[in-house]
Amino acid sequence: MAYDDNNIFARILRGEIPATKVYEDEHVLAINDINPQAPTHILVMPKGKYVSIDDFSTNATDAEIAALIRATGKIARNVGVADKGYRLLFNHGPHSHQEVPHLHVHILGGRPLGPLVLRKE
Ligand code: AMP
Repeated sequence: MAYDDNNIFARILRGEIPATKVYEDEHVLAINDINPQAPTHILVMPKGKYVSIDDFSTNATDAEIAALIRATGKIARNVGVADKGYRLLFNHGPHSHQEVPHLHVHILGGRPLGPLVLRKE
């Protein structure tokens, strides 16, 4: 799948639409999810143009990959969910219900999160 320059996170990264910034560094931007599914719901994304974890894990540089993972752990600690725990979620492709085709990892926390996936289908 080709990268769509007009996806919503590309537009946020270009500053064309607003978002609540939680963290930023050379390679990474993190924002609050607009429709939070838990008291803490943060989206951590690379600044580079990657459609999903499939694309990112294949084509990103080691520096970009390290930056995303290090930032994710740092953000979780900074917002106070590291002690009690949190869930990380990458969606890739239609079976996962990925909505935005720019790689992001969800940090979910702040309450017990229940079972990992909906047991359905
Ligand atoms: P996914 O299904 O993994 O692609 O997740 C996309 C996430 O982006 C959803 O949790 C949405 O609530 C969130 N989202 C969509 N638009 C925005 C936006 N403008 N600002 C912040 N989060 C957004």
